[in-house]
Amino acid sequence: MIAELLCVGSELLLGDILNTNARFLSQELAALGFCVHRQSVVGDNPHRLRQAFLEAHSRADFVFLTGGLGPTADDITRETICDALGFELEECAELLEKMRVFFRAQGCVMPNTNAKQAFLPRGAVLYRDGKLTSPEKNLAYWFQNPNGTAPAIALLTQGKCAVMLPGPPSELETIYRHSLREFLSNWADGAVISHEVRTMGIGESAMAELVEPLLEGENPSVAPYAKNGESFLRVTAKGKTAKDAEALMVPVLKEIKTRLAPFIYGVDVPSIEAVLVDALTKNAQTVCTAESITGGGIAKRLTDCQGASKVLRGSVVAYCDEVKAALLKVPREILETHGAVSEECAKVMAQNARRIFASEYSIAATGNADGENDLRAFVAIDSQSGTKTYCLEFPKGSRQRNRLITENTALFQLFSHLLSITQGEKNRV
Ligand code: ATP
Ligand code: MG
Repeated sequence: MIAELLCVGSELLLGDILNTNARFLSQELAALGFCVHRQSVVGDNPHRLRQAFLEAHSRADFVFLTGGLGPTADDITRETICDALGFELEECAELLEKMRVFFRAQGCVMPNTNAKQAFLPRGAVLYRDGKLTSPEKNLAYWFQNPNGTAPAIALLTQGKCAVMLPGPPSELETIYRHSLREFLSNWADGAVISHEVRTMGIGESAMAELVEPLLEGENPSVAPYAKNGESFLRVTAKGKTAKDAEALMVPVLKEIKTRLAPFIYGVDVPSIEAVLVDALTKNAQTVCTAESITGGGIAKRLTDCQGASKVLRGSVVAYCDEVKAALLKVPREILETHGAVSEECAKVMAQNARRIFASEYSIAATGNADGENDLRAFVAIDSQSGTKTYCLEFPKGSRQRNRLITENTALFQLFSHLLSITQGEKNRV
């Protein structure tokens, strides 16, 4: 099945919002075996919307539209698309009642303007689980929106399908998971599964070199990419069923794990901070941070994760030398002889923070993220077994990136340390 996405909204064209609906739908449709050939964006203009839609509809089996199903005058998707495909709109009493209930549940009366959203293509049936009644006929389906008022609508004509979804991602995603995915599975052609292998401490091209022979495979395909100072591999396989696709993936994932072992911190995991919080929680151990260059960024990322309160004891942001000396007891002599951006300073910051916060581990980071000279950072990880330090050399002109890489290094090195202890224990057993 060939699909195209058409996202509607002048906000998207102006760059005010990021098109996360396109990302969500592309990923989900790929998982159903749909081939998404194009993504387009069009503003809230009925003429241009109609034209863009008819073009997409002439090329693809499925056109997914997002946005413009709201109650205001600039929400024109429902009217424009129904008109383009020859569907008349009429009020649906069942939907109107559901909308009233939705507003009542929030303690308010439905504004009159919302009544517009109760208009559906004539004869539209509410999609309930199960098979389609008769896919060949001109038919319209609507899909309940548990998070809002605008339902999704699917129009089946000439063996093709146009699906309209509301713009707010929470509504679109809920409708998709609630009923639309199942509706689409009537056309699904096998299953496509993908896994994301996340690495750190290695650049995208160096990582690609290490797995080079695997990059030539077609099923599974292996694609490297980089984001936020990390390198990823996306492994995708297609099979008759999800189980078949998973089976194809097993030897390839195994080979990747062998080739990239020291750099991998997880497969299909949300972030390095999340796996670190998990690992510390499992070990019932705690950590603290003493931060200069990262300005509390490491602690912030740890506290972004659920369960952080059990593992993070606290953090000191010691940005200037006086604070490093006063709060973290970095000796004047180190600051004067080696400077704040030094291995010695990072070491003492980590050691003293661990003592102050009484944690099993501590992370310290000090460095220069921009300026003319001495662009580097030192990260120190302290534990009962000693202090390890890491030095990072930076290019000029990317302050935020240098700070991000310092955070990544600190989180990843502590995670690697925990992993090596666990593996060491396993080997001993
Ligand atoms: P509403 O009832 O809120 O008007 P709608 O279906 O008419 O919903 P739009 O008006 O197009 O949708 O968008 C509403 C909001 O949804 C936007 O302000 C934006 O926050 C979000 N949104 C719309 N389209 C997208 C998109 N493609 N990606 C991410 N967010 C989007
Ligand atoms: Mg709107």
